Amino acid sequence: MRIAQRVQQLQPEGAYQVMARAQELEAAGRDIIHLEIGEPDFATEPRICAAGVEAISAGRTKYNPPSGIGALRAAIAEDVSRRRGITVQPEQVVVGPGGKPALFFPTLALVEPGDEVIFPDPGFPTYRAMTEVADGVSVPVPLCEEHDFSFDLDAFDRRINDRTRLIVLNSPSNPTGGVMPQADLEHIAAAAQRHDCWVITDEIYARMAYDGIHVPSITAIDGMLERTILADGFSKTYSMTGWRLGYGIMPVPLAEKIHLMLVHSVGCTAHFTQYAGIEALTGPQDVVDMVVAKYRSRRDTLVEGLNAIPGVSCRTPHGAFYAFPNVKSFGRPAAELANLLLDEVGVALLPGTAFGQYGEGYLRLCYANSLENIERAVERMGESLGRLGTA
Ligand code: PMP
Repeated sequence: MRIAQRVQQLQPEGAYQVMARAQELEAAGRDIIHLEIGEPDFATEPRICAAGVEAISAGRTKYNPPSGIGALRAAIAEDVSRRRGITVQPEQVVVGPGGKPALFFPTLALVEPGDEVIFPDPGFPTYRAMTEVADGVSVPVPLCEEHDFSFDLDAFDRRINDRTRLIVLNSPSNPTGGVMPQADLEHIAAAAQRHDCWVITDEIYARMAYDGIHVPSITAIDGMLERTILADGFSKTYSMTGWRLGYGIMPVPLAEKIHLMLVHSVGCTAHFTQYAGIEALTGPQDVVDMVVAKYRSRRDTLVEGLNAIPGVSCRTPHGAFYAFPNVKSFGRPAAELANLLLDEVGVALLPGTAFGQYGEGYLRLCYANSLENIERAVERMGESLGRLGTA
């Protein structure tokens, strides 16, 4: 069978693979604690569900504008402008089925074969996948644990050059929970301007920040909005992963091309879903705040528990809902440790290497789970890793 080169290297997302194995074990009667998939454990708020149901009842079940309905684009423009301190017009907003289209389609639209794409490693696997499908060259930049998992800026400086077409940022980050400081964003922005690159800033976790920390956006730096695509969505903030609703903010000429790519690929986003999205953005936000407070206390329990296990050291992540403990002292590949924890004690989590080569020596745990499960998971990990002992 002849399959095009551009999809030959595509890899699955590690989370789905581990979840499938964990479910097999569960079907065989094992008790598994799921910390592998990055999905809120809260239900979508009733007010948002009601808006979606109402829209279905009102017949909003047909084709609709490919870049999204006007009222949603306007609500997104208003929300993004207010939260980031920037000015976004509705024409710059492209709605899609999830945040992923706002990563994938702009990459296809901007990267020529052989162009270099810089992205974080460990990082969300879609960044490499979209680069490969665009026939670009992947240029992973290591993150620096000592620098709160922001870019290793020396490594970044060595990698950026005039062949770099696109820089992908993700703050707060999956898988590390790190938040990039303003000074780093300024450094990267200056380099992007010097080398005339585009930036995709994946800010899907922007609302999930703890300890009163402000999450800066590169879009707010002078001269960056005209060369940046901001990707965000409803999946994480409003626990709406299955509704499939997200968006990109970008300069109008690019938005017009992405519109055409949507016309010829997905056609449009579900009509009723977008009404749920309007309600999500414009209704009361107290539940979002409550959910973030819950994540924070779960984070504290998990990080404290992990640090109490001899050989494990875990920095306190300031955003998203992931912990990324360092397990180098066990002297074994992260994938082996992840398998062991699943097989031996039924804790499903991901090896850092599911996010790139520089994830070796780390595990990723999603703490969008009950406090009780988090406590049980930590206890089981302590037993299993204790038996193993450090190298
Ligand atoms: N970016 C990052 C960093 C993510 O973790 C995810 C979800 N796992 C997405 C984008 C995509 O989310 P969605 O398509 O559901 O909006």
